[in-house]
Amino acid sequence: MSKRLVVALSGGVGGAKLALGLSRVLPGNDLLVVANTGDDFEHLGLSISPDIDTLTYVLADIDNPVPGWGRRDETWSFMDSIGSLGGEDWFRLGDRDLALHVERTRRLRLGQTLSEVTADICRRLGIGARVVPMSDDRVRTQVRSDAGWIDFQDYFVRQQCRPIVHELAFDGVTLARPHPDIIAALRSGDVRAVIICPSNPFISVEPILAIPGMRDAIKASGAPVVAVSPIIGGRAVKGPTAKMMRELGLEASAAGVAARYGDLLDGYVVDHADADGVGNVSARVTIARTLMTSLHDREALARATLEAADALALQR
Ligand code: GDP
Repeated sequence: MSKRLVVALSGGVGGAKLALGLSRVLPGNDLLVVANTGDDFEHLGLSISPDIDTLTYVLADIDNPVPGWGRRDETWSFMDSIGSLGGEDWFRLGDRDLALHVERTRRLRLGQTLSEVTADICRRLGIGARVVPMSDDRVRTQVRSDAGWIDFQDYFVRQQCRPIVHELAFDGVTLARPHPDIIAALRSGDVRAVIICPSNPFISVEPILAIPGMRDAIKASGAPVVAVSPIIGGRAVKGPTAKMMRELGLEASAAGVAARYGDLLDGYVVDHADADGVGNVSARVTIARTLMTSLHDREALARATLEAADALALQR
């Protein structure tokens, strides 16, 4: 019988678009989305997990597609009020969104794990796919800029990615363990594909891959590993991916992302706009439309990525 499970590594905005496509072309039980938690932080006394939340809202179809994060039909009374009191309002928390952070924080304080809270909230919101944090252990992305090391959300949201990035670190990662469900899935012998979503390699995918044992487990699964480029026509669709690549001395291109993933990749899906620049990529390249504007685009890219993985599996 053919293999069933698809394990998708994802950050927030770009990753969630493909995760939604995958969730619509696969039976719910067949998709396990590994969410980056390097972006997580504590703010206003709350435990916030931006990539888990984006995935949750997108997969539950309650997301706000305009910025790509947060909830649809959001209101901002809390933010307006806290701002008028002189409180911190640089990280935008809508009223509906706030409920999730308050509830997660309450449950974590009762001793539940992040993965337990995430699974229950996904179930309550009717999500069929499994969303699993990369680890229940604390990992925090740090950015070294001209002013020294700063917390990730300070760089990403408060300073809107303006500082030049010299180096990234994932505080806590050496002690972090991959979530056991991820390892169990990868060891099941039933993995059809490991898909690296079109997420920022440095701040969304590499924190996942940096967890001790994660890369080896992916390799040992025997499944084809296929990434989708987050770079289209030499640019990021959104966010600092291309800027960061330049600042880190890398080529800001689809090929540059493939080089960064190195021999982890068996397949690489790039846009028509980048077809000319991927001649030196050692993974097998598939050219597709990778800009996901509509729901149809998300499903079509999910299918193209799965087909690329299935073709690689047939060759083995
Ligand atoms: P974050 O955690 O919210 O920053 O989100 P991700 O890391 O998951 O996604 C950011 C990346 O998604 C950026 O590099 C974007 O270029 C990429 N991205 C966003 N939308 C699309 C899209 O429609 N197609 C592709 N190929 N990449 C996209």
